[in-house]
Amino acid sequence: MPKSVALVVAAGRGHRAGGEIPKQYMTLAGRPLLRRTVAAFAGHGEIDTVRVVINPDDRALYDAAVAGLTLLEPVAGGAERQDSVRNGLESLVEHGLDNVLIHDAARPFVTADLISRTLAALDHGPGAIAAVPLSDTLKRGDGMITETIPRDGLWRAQTPQAFHYDAILAAHRDAAGLSLTDDAAVAERAGLAVTLVPGGEDNFKVTTPEDFERAQRMLTEGAATEARVGTGFDAHRFGAGDHVMLCGARIAHDRGLVGHSDADVGIHAIVDALLGAIGAGDIGDHFPPADPRWAGADSTVFLAHARDLVERAGGVIGNVDVTLICERPRVGPHRAAMIACLAEVLAIAPDRVNVKATTTERLGFTGRGEGIAAQAVATVRIG
Ligand code: MG
Repeated sequence: MPKSVALVVAAGRGHRAGGEIPKQYMTLAGRPLLRRTVAAFAGHGEIDTVRVVINPDDRALYDAAVAGLTLLEPVAGGAERQDSVRNGLESLVEHGLDNVLIHDAARPFVTADLISRTLAALDHGPGAIAAVPLSDTLKRGDGMITETIPRDGLWRAQTPQAFHYDAILAAHRDAAGLSLTDDAAVAERAGLAVTLVPGGEDNFKVTTPEDFERAQRMLTEGAATEARVGTGFDAHRFGAGDHVMLCGARIAHDRGLVGHSDADVGIHAIVDALLGAIGAGDIGDHFPPADPRWAGADSTVFLAHARDLVERAGGVIGNVDVTLICERPRVGPHRAAMIACLAEVLAIAPDRVNVKATTTERLGFTGRGEGIAAQAVATVRIG
């Protein structure tokens, strides 16, 4: 697999959108615009990691916008967009990259499919950009038309713009100080072939207040109102040990739970519920029990991954509700800690998390004290 990094350019001031803060940090249907954009790449299976180029003055806004996402440290941009991209590219020299995708922070509607198709085009050449064929007739003029420009073969450039890393770095170094409007222009100047990959009208750049309204409508109408539900169930057997992990809480006990990971049966049920809600299979698909990486793993890692997958699917977690089924240990004293842990990892308010416990009146395997079971429900709004 080639190593590919996404470089998200977020260093602009973006005041045309009319807000008090740069537009990339403004909230769009409950989440910062930048977070939506970054999450599209951070959760993509063919992207190894993401670096954002920011204005250092925005560091606090940046930290708040991407909290909980796994990204490289941001780097500082320059005076012009071209300088910002070059800084970003230079910062990746040590990473042994094959490909880099350069993307505008202000295009939050980039799809996983467009990212994949743009990357795939790099199998056949050093550059590829998302673009849309022009449908409007072009006129040149100043109040009065002086010329009609044939639109045949004309495209509007979008991002992502993807390149073989070494080639675009060399092209950017060579173009330093010039003023070129996008990275494809930098590549063209260096004689690199750049493929046009059909983008989409929805992949527009959020620039003006009207754009914000359009983006808000796209996120809150139609698909955004769709509610999804998923269920999860899990059970683990008691074995030797002095504590159990339940919903992220460490509870002293005269036995432990047996499992490949830390055997947190409550979190496993919630992970399956979240995956169920977005049609993403089950926990074993994402964290195979045979994989030595997950031996003794802290199950909050699985939960954070499920949260990232929900985000990548364009979803917002509505609530999670989990029932722990056992005679012992007693869950009540630990409920508050469990809720706090789950809410923090899922990045949702504690009142959207519920933890319940029940016994089975000494019936069945839980009643005989052979193990603990858990079942969970999660709702996700897709938007
Ligand atoms: Mg399990």
